[in-house]
Amino acid sequence: MKPELFPDKIKPYILPQPSGDLIYNCLGCGLEFPIEKLHYTCPECGQVLLIQDRRFQRLKEIPPETWHLIFDYRKMLTLPAMKGIYRFHEFIGSMIPLDAVVYLGEGHTPIIEANLHMQEKTGCRFFFKNDGQNPSASFKDRGMASALSYIHYLIREGLTEDVLAVCASTGDTSAAAALYAAYLQPNIKSAVLLPHKKVTPQQLSQPLGSGAKVFEIPGVFDDCMKVVEALSENYNVALLNSKNAWRILGQESYSYEIAQDLEYDMKDKVVVLPIGNAGNITAVMSGFLKFYDTGIITTLPKILGVQSAHANPVYRYYLEPDAARRKFKPVTVQPSVAQAAMIGNPVSMPRVIHLTKLYNDLSGKQNVFFMEVTEQAIMDWELTANRNGHIACTHGGESLAGLFAARQQGIVHSQEVSIIDSTAHALKFSGFQEMYFENTFPEEFQITPEPALVNRPVLVRPKTIDRFPAPGSSMDADDFKRFVQATSEYIATDLNLKKAPDS
Ligand SMILES: *Cc1c(COP(=O)(O)O)cnc(C)c1O
Ligand SMILES: [Zn+2]
Repeated sequence: MKPELFPDKIKPYILPQPSGDLIYNCLGCGLEFPIEKLHYTCPECGQVLLIQDRRFQRLKEIPPETWHLIFDYRKMLTLPAMKGIYRFHEFIGSMIPLDAVVYLGEGHTPIIEANLHMQEKTGCRFFFKNDGQNPSASFKDRGMASALSYIHYLIREGLTEDVLAVCASTGDTSAAAALYAAYLQPNIKSAVLLPHKKVTPQQLSQPLGSGAKVFEIPGVFDDCMKVVEALSENYNVALLNSKNAWRILGQESYSYEIAQDLEYDMKDKVVVLPIGNAGNITAVMSGFLKFYDTGIITTLPKILGVQSAHANPVYRYYLEPDAARRKFKPVTVQPSVAQAAMIGNPVSMPRVIHLTKLYNDLSGKQNVFFMEVTEQAIMDWELTANRNGHIACTHGGESLAGLFAARQQGIVHSQEVSIIDSTAHALKFSGFQEMYFENTFPEEFQITPEPALVNRPVLVRPKTIDRFPAPGSSMDADDFKRFVQATSEYIATDLNLKKAPDS
């Protein structure tokens, strides 16, 4: 719909102008720094940053019901800049002009309700929010749309030029970074660092296809992160890891979309997500807090962060109930099917500690929970979900396993409705499904296939015939007839089919 056709009440708000006063805020020393320069950590104390709007109060001058209408009417716009995460412009990067926004189809991923069978199996109602339906097939596109729109803005303002964007990645960050950088070439080039043999072939193909320079590094993600940090401290590069606070800002869109999809009613809602480097859970909490602060939602949903027992530093930290005695200790990770979350020293841990406290305080009760699940449970729940019409990746399986455990432990109640983050598309991690179906998991994973979940292809080559079609060679008509007959009979027998009455 054209902006001039919107109701008069909404018209002034429908296309946002650059507004607000964004600054980097240090979680360590509390200092603030202007956004005209790209910072990843505090120049004073080295702690991670979050972006804050010093004029956030102005957003409270608009009544919550008007905000609902603004976002709902914006759904009808055809302007590309407003079709993705910047539908929530005032909350996501309000100083970015719309013509600097990079939109590649990210955001507004569907929420799909689990069928009755799944609800019975888990003991609760839930939806998957399929973030694998983003352009590079993971939620990372939300943060990259934000980070690259910001860099695009800096370039246009003449504040930077010839950007080399770099990131370390468990696979999906590099796919997203390379994709968005490719769109902005030649102004931006990208280089990605991946742990050798610790990303799937599909994930490796993505930055290669987008034309990024790809470096494979021995070790795990945490090792790559140290190298890329050294690069960003000593050379003129733009770091695109979630250490970059612009990533967090974009990923807040996940919360805003859930609120909008549920008609802004977050009572008795639970949001479940996997934790790796902890950027996503930071963003999800931050997003709900902003909507809560402005009255756009009036309840903070319960948050459930899930980790594999093979990479569980955040879960371990919160095992200590006394906040004063908690001490963060990085863990050495073991192989995990939730490979994109296989991180022992999450960069956003200080943000998680800060926001979890704030979130619980404002909720007036514990409202953020951390769960641990086994590798076996991750695979079993992923495969079960996908046998019931979902497209969950292993991390979606991890989240579902976490929800099930939380339900069993009484952390989630039967009247609550959960939204589960399937953070990537199942296809990116199909290699783990294959290992499960073929029972070829290396020992360290400690996964034994559940026979009822195994599914394998059947090669049909009936013994009654000896000629089969092959590409490039033609077949005798009678041979071909025999092939069709023998093959169809084989399949009919295998499927136990009954003959149609008039055949
Ligand atoms: C990056 C990633 C995660 C972990 O998210 P963090 O923000 O690092 O906690 C989980 N699942 C998938 C598919 C990912 O790509
Ligand atoms: Zn500081």
